[in-house]
Order: sequence, then structure tokens, then C-alpha cells
Amino acid sequence: MKLFDSHAHLDDEQFDEDRKEVIDKIINSNVKRIVNVGADIKTSESSIKLAQQYEFIYAAIGIHPHDVSNCKLSDIEYLKELAANEKVVAIGEIGLDYYYDHSPRDVQRNWFARQIELSEELKLPFIVHSRDASEETHDIIKANKKKSAFVLHCFGQSLEMAKKYIDMDGYISFAGPVTYKKSVKLREIIKNIPKDRILIETDCPYLSPEPKRGKRNDPTNVEFIAKTLASELNISTDKLAEITFDNASRFFSI
Ligand SMILES: [Zn+2]
Repeated sequence: MKLFDSHAHLDDEQFDEDRKEVIDKIINSNVKRIVNVGADIKTSESSIKLAQQYEFIYAAIGIHPHDVSNCKLSDIEYLKELAANEKVVAIGEIGLDYYYDHSPRDVQRNWFARQIELSEELKLPFIVHSRDASEETHDIIKANKKKSAFVLHCFGQSLEMAKKYIDMDGYISFAGPVTYKKSVKLREIIKNIPKDRILIETDCPYLSPEPKRGKRNDPTNVEFIAKTLASELNISTDKLAEITFDNASRFFSI
């Protein structure tokens, strides 16, 4: 089996004490590719650093809605410079978070749109974080996206929204919450969207899937997400792993 974790934060401080051990464990697992995702300038840099150290790790760079309040135009220029690195495969994570509202909403909308423009300019796909802002996330993508592919990471919206994103060339990525007992509606979505638009991710160190819930998450747990999706689709976990590996490789042009 070959698994692709399309969204991880291995540079997070929760891995500072044993990052090497965790990565050794991944090397000996079924996880064969990982995209490590930045959320500000510092973590965009550390994502690239990790990607340069390990052949199977790739980097996404961008500024998360939590951190856009201090964003400057020069940051966009700097992201452009960082994107010249050959291991950078996406812009992200970018988007809207109206649950925490760490940045004013108009500022979030502005930098989300600007970073979509950046992805178009650089011909890279973009990774979307969206919480309690589904309509506006959709509208901003619709107004600003031209050719870039995009993925709704850790999808938690409705089937109707999933279909709208797919109609705009979007992908839908499932994380730990899809394994939770109460996520019946989320699991229903899997059967009702095309298989070639599904990605899987851990979003580690956050959001551990069942049966690891409550513990620190790491990319090897992506297998539990694969198992859940496979059982919903009535296919083998091997087959689901293969489909999502191919989807992510196509999405990130790896
Ligand atoms: Zn994330």
C-alpha cells in the first residue's frame, strides 16, 4: 500500500523533541508522500527546509487567515521568491476562519483573494482552510480563481457545497473528523462525489482520527482515514490508497 498525506505540519513545535524518530517511523510505514503546509512566513520557510531534507516531503507556502492581520505586500513578494524552490508544490494554507476571527474579516477576504491571484501567477494549486465561512469562501474562489486547481482541506461543509467546489475544478480532502462516530453526514458525502476528486490528510499534529483520538497525530495515521473512506465506498483500503495517491500526485503535479 502507498499512502499520500496531503496536509501535514511536521515542523510544528509538538514534534520538536522527536521529529527524527517520527520521520523514521514514517519512512518505515506505508506513507510514501507528504505535503507539509505552511501557515505564515516562518512555517513556509520551515516547510521548505523539511522538504529539502527529505525526498518524500514536499512543501506548500502561504499565510493562514489567523495570521493575515500583519500581512504586507512584501510578504507576497517573499512568497514568490520562496516558490522558486522546486519542492514547493502549492500555495497554502489560505482562506477564511470566521470561527476564531483572529484577523478582521475584511482583511481575511483581501489576503485570501490576493493569495489565489498568487497561485494563478505561479501556476500552482492552492490549499483552502475554511471554517464557518462556507458561502464567502465559495464566492471568493469563484471570483478570483482562473486556472488553478484547489482543495478544501479538512472538509467539514455540506454535500451541496462539495459539489459546487467540484464544479469549479476543486478537490475535497478528508481528515480525522471523518472517522468520528457522529460524522454521519460527512461520510455520506464520500459516496456522492467523484472518486477522482478525493484527497486524504492528517493535518497533524492536530485532529487525530479514531482510534488515536486525543493523542498527537502524525502522518502514519492517514491509514485510518483511508480505511474509513474505503469502507464507505465498499472498496479495499489498498484501492482507496491508490486512488488518493494518484489524485494527490496529479493535484500537486508531482
Ligand atoms: Zn493545516
